[in-house]
Amino acid sequence: MRMTDSDPTTDDATDDASDDAPRDFIREIIAAEVAAGELERPVTRFPPEPNGYLHIGHAKSICLNFGVAREFGGRCHLRFDDTNPAKEEQEFIDAIEADLRWLGFDWGEHLYHASDNFELLYQWAEHLITEGKAYVEDLSADEIREYRGTLTEPGRDSPYRDRAPDENLDLFRRMRAGEFAEGERALRAKIDMASGNINLRDPVIYRIVHAAHPRTGDAWCIYPTYDFAHGQSDAIEHVTHSLCTLEFEDHRPLYDWLVENLPVPSRPRQYEFARLSLTHTVLSKRRLTALVQDGHVTGWDDPRMPTLAGLRRRGLPAEAIRDFVGRIGVTKSGAVVEMALLDHCVRDHLNRHAERRMAVLNPLKVVIENYPEGGSETLDAINNPEDEAAGKRQVPFGRELWIERDDFMEDPPKKFFRLAPGREVRLRYAYFLTCTEAVKDATGEITELRCTYDPETRGGNAPDGRKVKATLHWVAAADAVEAEVRLYEPLFTRPDPGADGDLGADINPDSLVARRGCKLEPALAGTAAGETVQFERLGYFTADPDGAPGRPVFNRTIGLRDTWAKVQKKG
Ligand code: ATP
Ligand code: MG
Repeated sequence: MRMTDSDPTTDDATDDASDDAPRDFIREIIAAEVAAGELERPVTRFPPEPNGYLHIGHAKSICLNFGVAREFGGRCHLRFDDTNPAKEEQEFIDAIEADLRWLGFDWGEHLYHASDNFELLYQWAEHLITEGKAYVEDLSADEIREYRGTLTEPGRDSPYRDRAPDENLDLFRRMRAGEFAEGERALRAKIDMASGNINLRDPVIYRIVHAAHPRTGDAWCIYPTYDFAHGQSDAIEHVTHSLCTLEFEDHRPLYDWLVENLPVPSRPRQYEFARLSLTHTVLSKRRLTALVQDGHVTGWDDPRMPTLAGLRRRGLPAEAIRDFVGRIGVTKSGAVVEMALLDHCVRDHLNRHAERRMAVLNPLKVVIENYPEGGSETLDAINNPEDEAAGKRQVPFGRELWIERDDFMEDPPKKFFRLAPGREVRLRYAYFLTCTEAVKDATGEITELRCTYDPETRGGNAPDGRKVKATLHWVAAADAVEAEVRLYEPLFTRPDPGADGDLGADINPDSLVARRGCKLEPALAGTAAGETVQFERLGYFTADPDGAPGRPVFNRTIGLRDTWAKVQKKG
């Protein structure tokens, strides 16, 4: 990892892929409707259920919905799909809004909640009952399942299916009034128990839940199901294109049936695309919730989590996530995407934007015997070789320095070109340095290196033109800032965690190694939380909010080596 001096990525994609987003089948459909004069401007929505934090899979849906709206001059709503009060929390609502803004999207005044529509949805349920298109069910959830049939067998009619509308209306009103226990009754749409599509076999559209709701409090004890609330909320908001993931493809006939059978003010259409799956992580809220609840991570924003909050804390730039989403595109069939592609997008962005600094994570003391005692000087260091405008900074140098312990070997093998007894190397931005002796303690552990420097090589070049084979980073001991650096590895040991059923067994016990006593150059003392720099030769690191002025904490965002670029070269 230490052999490269700078990031080897060469690809120079634009900063924001959404500016020239590629055409996908959804954009083709919308463009065709606009061209045919059928559509003026699209209205889309992003509909999270506030039962967890947003993850990178959601970013795909967000970039699609907001991107389409932006490109076609329409608008995108943020709608909380808050129909299940048992699992939803205000913390999640706040986090979702913050993460969306961070990712670069704004819904303006178009913030909605499915719960805003509870009264109207209730009226529409009564409408279905009056029309003989819905009935109150007395069977238990288990019995409903039994009667529903299977993919190969038709369902059977419930004994309550032919209740008269008046009786249904009375029972439904009593459900609303709280006369029944959870599960005692439900409201079902009366469609077709023999349908080949199980979603049309009289789906439940209202269930009894005696739980307070974050927004409506105790006003309701019956709640609409996702299927009943979703399409109707789309219609109420005049959404034109309701974009969802493929598992809802089989729900589309029900979506359409409800829109056709209710007095809705507009006629939205549902389109399905493949959800994002990513190697080396999990993107199911149920599993992410379990990771948090079982203490495998410190929280939803743990830098090992694939949540937007976690990725942000680890230091991933929002631009890199948008770039990644643009590159994977939107299709009808989904493949698992390599995490290496996301890593590549991150390096590509940070290589261009992150300033370089020097930091030593596993320090070994160097004493330069021919450097004046008590002397010091400052040297020019380039902030970003990819960006001349980033300028230069001054780095202090002195008689005592820190270098990385593994940049020295007492008895080096053939291919080790870094420091060894009698060998000369370059100290970045400084001088040529030669090791004269390795000092050891009683146990044989090397405690410091005795060295000499060549004062003629200031700036890192020898006037006589002699070459060295390695350039090391270093930090002057007198000015070093002590820091904790958290080295993150993937949270799981395999690319398909949980494939054998037990996610816990695939957790990487070494996914976090916290190094204390790391030595940073003084310019890093006041790095603001969230700011990312490249530690030369080591990788990209981001200041963590756990740090404080004078005692920073850094997270390793990503190492320097780009396996994706290699994969592409080979292919
Ligand atoms: P989970 O299945 O993990 O519970 P979800 O789909 O229920 O996630 P929601 O909050 O309902 O989570 O999702 C909001 C929107 O984000 C939905 O339109 C959903 O289709 C989309 N979405 C969720 N996960 C992904 C993913 N991995 N890829 C693309 N879109 C996704
Ligand atoms: Mg969902």
